[in-house]
Amino acid sequence: MRLLFIGPPGAGKGTQAGRVAERLGIPHISTGDLFRDNVSRGTELGKQVDEIMKRGDYVPDEITVAMLADRMAEDDARDGYILDGFPRTAAQVEALDELLGDEGLDRVALFQVDQASLAERMLGRGRADDTEETIGNRFEVYEEQTAPLIKIYEERGLVVTVDGNADVPVVTERVLAAL
Ligand code: AMP
Repeated sequence: MRLLFIGPPGAGKGTQAGRVAERLGIPHISTGDLFRDNVSRGTELGKQVDEIMKRGDYVPDEITVAMLADRMAEDDARDGYILDGFPRTAAQVEALDELLGDEGLDRVALFQVDQASLAERMLGRGRADDTEETIGNRFEVYEEQTAPLIKIYEERGLVVTVDGNADVPVVTERVLAAL
């Protein structure tokens, strides 16, 4: 299964992607995790993206797409994967379409969580980009650049909506049922 998990920051899609990927026996491919791994190892890529991430802005498409393409070319991604945090811009949708060719995605899971819970969840996880100053910017960038992608995938008939307002294991079962 080739899956995409999408939703606003703090919706729990990363947590769910990890759990669902394990249940389905496919890799969880998170561009955010890949970037954070580069930052913590101090790689050249990590140095390029560190400040951008701290502001809550998006990393330029060419950097992000190249990193994602490398990851998707690895052996374990041959039979399926869960994409988490990519694509986030219209240009990234086009890049993904090109990478996937005729195969395409099988399903897009859209996570919906009450606005009040989103910031609360983010402040609870203690990530470097989960500060009060950065969170507001990340919501804005999401609304502006990523929310419009939902319509593209809806028009392709791929979107299933998941109510993420529940405990983690409950949401996991909802996702599995919806897929
Ligand atoms: P995430 O872990 O998905 O919340 O991503 C954390 C941060 O990594 C984002 O706020 C961006 O700065 C960067 N990032 C992750 N994925 C992408 C992407 N597809 N395009 C651009 N920037 C990204």
